[in-house]
Amino acid sequence: MNNSFDEDCDYLFKAVLIGYSAVGKSNLLSRFAKDEFCLDSKPTIGVEFAYRSIRVGDKIIKAQIWDTAGQERFRAITSSYYRGALGALVVYDITRRPTFESLRKWLKELREFGSPEMVVVLVGNKSDLGQSREVNLEDGQSLAQLEQVSFMETSAKENLNVEEAFLQMITRIYEITCHKSL
Ligand code: GDP
Repeated sequence: MNNSFDEDCDYLFKAVLIGYSAVGKSNLLSRFAKDEFCLDSKPTIGVEFAYRSIRVGDKIIKAQIWDTAGQERFRAITSSYYRGALGALVVYDITRRPTFESLRKWLKELREFGSPEMVVVLVGNKSDLGQSREVNLEDGQSLAQLEQVSFMETSAKENLNVEEAFLQMITRIYEITCHKSL
């Protein structure tokens, strides 16, 4: 799907969301793609994706963003989920330490199955729940520095930094992949 062309955009990219169950991946995606938030955990199982088009300069970039939709609960994510993806948001929940501890595993899997040029943004979600925080901001920053990826804390619920996290990933993908071929 690299640099694919579509009728209504100049570039079409695939990106994926990964991370432990219930960290907020689906809500981050629905906030970004549809500006919606859902209080209940979703009942559906299976891969889902959503699109959003953004303008960078005079180009229209369409991001196709895949959500695991619960498959991680059964360790059922396969290499096809990562295939062709140029970016990933790797998400943990700042109120649940184990979701942060699991990041090494997700990053390892990304490197194994993903493209070597994959743009990764580490996301600490649920920043609105600061009173229940189990992962300090500095922990997220240090891991991001160690892994040489970007980092942001977000709240899908309060719509804080969600747009910024996705846009950072998408514009970086555009810079890396499209400028080479222009
Ligand atoms: P997923 O399994 O990673 O896709 O997680 P979901 O998007 O289904 O969210 C799991 C639960 O966390 C749901 O009850 C959401 O309402 C809640 N949630 C998601 N994002 C936030 C957030 O930013 N703040 C708060 N307080 N709750 C959130």
